Amino acid sequence: MIDDNINYEYIIRYIRRTLKPQVGLIAELEEFAAENSVPISQPETIKLLELLIKIGNVKSILEVGTAIGYSAIRMAGAGAEHIDTIEINHDAAAFAEKSIKRAGFEDRIRIFEGDAREVLKELDRSYDLIFIDAAKAQYNEFFKHCMRMLKPGGILFSDNILYKGMTATDELVQHRKITIVKRLRRYVDMLCTHSELETDILPLGDGVAISVKGR
Ligand code: SAH
Ligand code: MG
Repeated sequence: MIDDNINYEYIIRYIRRTLKPQVGLIAELEEFAAENSVPISQPETIKLLELLIKIGNVKSILEVGTAIGYSAIRMAGAGAEHIDTIEINHDAAAFAEKSIKRAGFEDRIRIFEGDAREVLKELDRSYDLIFIDAAKAQYNEFFKHCMRMLKPGGILFSDNILYKGMTATDELVQHRKITIVKRLRRYVDMLCTHSELETDILPLGDGVAISVKGR
């Protein structure tokens, strides 16, 4: 069942049929996520991340929003050698840690448990790619730290920025979501007008913004 999607269902089904089904631990995590409503990246979105990692020879990644470690494990599998990932939920972080060990990536992926708005202040590495995929109302707050730690030429990948279409049109906005939508619109505008970034908005998954930082 594909609901609340920004794309035609037949297009999504068609694209998903082209993607290789996952096996082993990855398939198990996908099943767990589906059964427990864990919002892991959509298949076509994580595929794009894997391709960007390969095309850009991305080695170091910062991820905001680990959940159960699904995207971190797939990004390590695509060739990322150092991933720092932040998760506020204790149970999710503990689950992710186990999954990462099972994947054999405990030397490559480091989980920081806590609120990214605090944890980000303490980090000072620089990264080839930063993946923002946590609370949608907080992207603006994550951003300044991400900008500081993104290498020149690095990629900022922001997920869910179309937010079931609500970002694009008032007609879809649910009243309870107004604040989040306003903040997402401000975030997208900021990305698209930022002097150090070049940005494209893709209607992929739940909407993705890919930005490149100037060299
Ligand atoms: N990137 C994951 C999915 C992340 S889901 C994947 O594709 O597999 C979003 C996660 O962000 C949730 O687990 C939620 O607990 C976490 N989160 C939300 N706000 C956060 C914050 N301020 N700091 C850290 N994690 C946060
Ligand atoms: Mg997402």
